Amino acid sequence: MAKEELECSFCGRKKSETNLLIAGLDAHICDRCIEQAYGIVVEESKQSGNSELSAELMLRKPKEIKAFLDEYIIGQEYTKRVMSVAVYNHYKRLLQPPSDDDIEIQKSNIIMVGQTGTGKTLMAKTVARMLNVPLAIVDATVLTEAGYVGEDVESILTRLLQAADYNLEKAQRGIVFIDEIDKIARKSDNPSITRDVSGEGVQQALLKLLEGTVVNVPPKGGRKHPDQKFIEVNTEHILFIAGGAFDGIERVISKRLNMQAIGYSSIKDDNVDGDNILQYIIPKDLKDFGLIPEIIGRLPVLTHMDPLDANTLRAILTEPKNAIIKQYKKLFAMDDVEFTITEGALNYIVDKAIEYKLGARGLRSLCEEILTEAMFDLPGSGETKLNVTKSYAEDRLSKSTLKKLKAVS
Ligand code: ADP
Repeated sequence: MAKEELECSFCGRKKSETNLLIAGLDAHICDRCIEQAYGIVVEESKQSGNSELSAELMLRKPKEIKAFLDEYIIGQEYTKRVMSVAVYNHYKRLLQPPSDDDIEIQKSNIIMVGQTGTGKTLMAKTVARMLNVPLAIVDATVLTEAGYVGEDVESILTRLLQAADYNLEKAQRGIVFIDEIDKIARKSDNPSITRDVSGEGVQQALLKLLEGTVVNVPPKGGRKHPDQKFIEVNTEHILFIAGGAFDGIERVISKRLNMQAIGYSSIKDDNVDGDNILQYIIPKDLKDFGLIPEIIGRLPVLTHMDPLDANTLRAILTEPKNAIIKQYKKLFAMDDVEFTITEGALNYIVDKAIEYKLGARGLRSLCEEILTEAMFDLPGSGETKLNVTKSYAEDRLSKSTLKKLKAVS
């Protein structure tokens, strides 16, 4: 007699009808039932909401947060430490049980100052990824005071709601990254020149949001949908991270440092690292640049990004968890092509990124230029190997984009 065919103990499907049948002690389960059961687990954990979130958040100590950031972000040691502590404190504040003492932990909103392409957005993205909270990335330059052409500051929260799939609870614990905050600095120190559409008025409008307030948010955003019902969003537990290049702030800092050197003779010029003046930034410099003191007060954690040198750029190519080169390896592997790249080629890419002042953002476009032809030709060609050398890279770049890249720089 033929041996009886095994079957799934949950749905009764025969082994031959499944892709996979896993054996337990006295039972079996098929791939479909595993998927269904997993769906139920995910759904349940969504519904249990808060407690789930708190358990997850409390697990991460600052050192663990930093270790997570290390996996994705090269260098920027100072900001990673500051960020780890600020994020930890923020979520500690959020999880604190109501107490009867009068000590209220204030928000630890963060402001990052650093050249474009040094990883500010990446920092915010990585924190959001680690915490598994929704993230809205908004550009301060599009914000205007209510009544002007452009987006009201409330639109920031519309984005956050969208990022949270309209789960209000989640949105209210999310992160907002406001990029180019420097662009809404007051253009002049003369307060009588107000009503500058993009400047101080927007800063004023942002204040309440940063501090914590309940805002009526149009869920679809904008003024195009006048009939929509507003959603009340409380910003009290939303972590705001602002970033900006603050072009020219080095001058403000240097000026202050020189003055101090004369005044107190404590900071002498040889103690100042002229290549990285930003590291000496203090809140007053932001004020001198044109941020209003109230905004600075509501972004109490101030940190700077270091400029990216050749070593850092080189590391960015291959070291982060989803480093660019690793991504190309994966792409080629999907076509059964083993992609390798020599040290010489990597250094060449770094040199070009520096030469054209393209920073970390340029690494990607350079790789794309060098590899596009291979990505076009190799799939389906039967080739199983691609080794990119310096001369291959030089050749590709000279053919296609040198002019284009030069035009950008
Ligand atoms: P910013 O917001 O400061 O302008 P981004 O975070 O957008 O810069 O960085 C641009 C790109 O460069 C990102 O895609 C990121 O992959 C890469 N990058 C920049 N800095 C770093 C870094 N320190 N470590 C790893 N990747 C980086």
